Parts: sequence; C-alpha cells; structure tokens
Amino acid sequence: MNPANFLKIKNKIPSNVNILAVSKGFKSQEIKTIQNMGQNDFGESKFQEAFEKQLILKELKQIKWHFIGRIQNNKIRKIVQNFKYIHSVDSFEKLQKISNISFEENKNPFIMLQVKFSDDPNKGGLNPELLILKWREIQELKNITLSGLMTINPKGLSSKENLELFKKCRSLADSLQLPDCSMGMSGDWEEAVDAGSTWLRLGSLIFGDRF
Ligand SMILES: *Cc1c(COP(=O)(O)O)cnc(C)c1O
Repeated sequence: MNPANFLKIKNKIPSNVNILAVSKGFKSQEIKTIQNMGQNDFGESKFQEAFEKQLILKELKQIKWHFIGRIQNNKIRKIVQNFKYIHSVDSFEKLQKISNISFEENKNPFIMLQVKFSDDPNKGGLNPELLILKWREIQELKNITLSGLMTINPKGLSSKENLELFKKCRSLADSLQLPDCSMGMSGDWEEAVDAGSTWLRLGSLIFGDRF
C-alpha cells in the first residue's frame, strides 16, 4: 500500500462525498496508516475478520466501522454491537431482526438498504417496487436510523450503463427522502459521483491489490 496514493484519490473526490475505506483483506496496520491521514470510516464485509481488527485497533476511538458484507442471521447481534453503519441490509426479515436486536442492545445503527436495479443473480438486494410497497412498515421499525440506499452494479457494464443504474438508486432514495446513496467502488466511482453518491466504497483504489 502506498499512502501517497490515498491523498491523490482523496483530492480527486468532491469534498461533499464521503469516502468509505474498504479494508477487507487488509491488515490493521494498514488501517492505522490510513487513519493517521485523517480517514475515519472503514468498511468490512466479514464479521470475524473485522472483529479481530476492531480489537487490535480499539484505542482508535475515532474509527467508525461500517458493515458492507452479506449478513448472516446468526451474526446480526454481533454486527449490531460492533458497527455504527450497516450498508448491506438486503431483506425485510433481516431489517426486522436488526431492529429488534438493536432495541435489546440499546443501539441505533445507521442503515442503508441494499437495492438491486438489475437482475444480477450474483448480487443480493431488495426489489425497488417491493421496497416502495413496504416503506410505511419499514419506517415504523424502532432503533434503526434509515439513512439511505446501497447498490452494487454488475461487473462489466459500460460507463453509461453504470451511470444509469446509479441514477436509479439516487432517484429512488430522493423519492423516499433518504439522504444517502452508498454506491461506487474502485472501478465505477466516477459515475457514482456524477449520479449523486454520498458514500464511495473504495478498497483496492486506496489499499492496492488484495492478496
Ligand atoms: C470489496 C467491496 C468493495 C470495494 O471494492 P474495490 O473494488 O476494492 O473498491 C465495495 N463494496 C463492497 C460491498 C465490497 O464487498
């Protein structure tokens, strides 16, 4: 990892767009290096891997941890206990469980609901029409702060196709009056910025290649 790289990237991104440094596959020492440069939001996708790093880095109180991976039912309590943001909530059942457990744990995580705007069999996500139908019910859930939508585009799209899908996400978030869109990764962040992303999830662009 080349720390100078991080500043170069940061300078290219508009200051009103948040950077989530996706540290999955990277060591706590590398998180520390980036954190030292003023980055406090880190994203992880596997609970166990994340938890080990959280223990090592527990003195760094400024770090805000974001869970961005597939949520297993038996990990929800641990995720709620240890993450301030959850980006990858892809079903109502999981959202409900998160709400119930957050209540028991006296937590109130920020939630970004994962929505699917293309039929990519490899990716999870809520169907947009269903989300709209259930929206009233969702808004009544306690101990969660619904802050936005999250989406992952299929691989191999053109720049224009990426932009179009991201715009759908932005427009659905706007219609639900949700401020955040967690969209854009190392390969498609520019289109995501153009479409109105508020959280870019950047892994390899910041940390280099995963091993
Ligand atoms: C790994 C991952 C990222 C970051 O991917 P890069 O291509 O390395 O930027 C972003 N979002 C999710 C959900 C991920 O799992």
